Amino acid sequence: MKITIFYLYPDLMNLYGDIGNIIALKKRIEWRNIECKIEEITLGQKPDFTKADILFLGGGQDRGQKIIEKELLSHKEEIKTLIEKGLPCLLICGGYQLFGKYFKTTDGSTINGIEAFDAWTIAGGKRMIGNIIIESPVFGRIVGFENHSGKTYLGNNISPLGKIIKGYGNNGTDGTEGILFKNVIGTYLHGPFLPKNFQITDWFIKQAIKYRYGQGINLLSLDNTFEKMAFHEAEKRAIYAKSLSI
Ligand code: GLN
Repeated sequence: MKITIFYLYPDLMNLYGDIGNIIALKKRIEWRNIECKIEEITLGQKPDFTKADILFLGGGQDRGQKIIEKELLSHKEEIKTLIEKGLPCLLICGGYQLFGKYFKTTDGSTINGIEAFDAWTIAGGKRMIGNIIIESPVFGRIVGFENHSGKTYLGNNISPLGKIIKGYGNNGTDGTEGILFKNVIGTYLHGPFLPKNFQITDWFIKQAIKYRYGQGINLLSLDNTFEKMAFHEAEKRAIYAKSLSI
């Protein structure tokens, strides 16, 4: 058995430890004696997305988002079709924004997204920064760190990843954070996200196996002592620290 992760534009979209998500996936896949291949996709390549079992796009500055816009849009139909078939995707912050409809930036320009789901983002005057806790009906409590100016709004039939317990989330006003659409998770949580929330790493591994091999699998259970420590440390920081808005 093998899982192939497509890591999109790591040189341009990778903030606040986002690469930790790739490392967590790789480790927890290999600890189950499953082979893991990481394909780094950079500008100018012609990737065959049907080879991907998990797609990952991290966060980025507006500048990085603008640079990848055209090329990401050229893959729009292929990626959308695969998402409909259940391709698992993890999208962090700037990556999350670019899989929605558009991101209107602070300089008034619009970066078009691939419209994989009904969400759109408008830059706000203040950055929303801090440790964050959310509660998800599917995954339970989730922790992370956010730093974005974009405010994301979800269409009527779209489920958020969770509800805000502490922090700003999608837009700082409606109490929602992220998105859970088919096997796609979009979220503002950096930090990195998966090492602190290992139940979601395992969810991705299970979904990837189901997507590629057509059947579910019981994953070998692991000792999660360190992962739980990382979760509790991040949770503590979110509870005791003040969220900044500058
Ligand atoms: N540039 C985007 C924003 O500020 C995304 C930032 C990020 O990925 N951390 O909203």
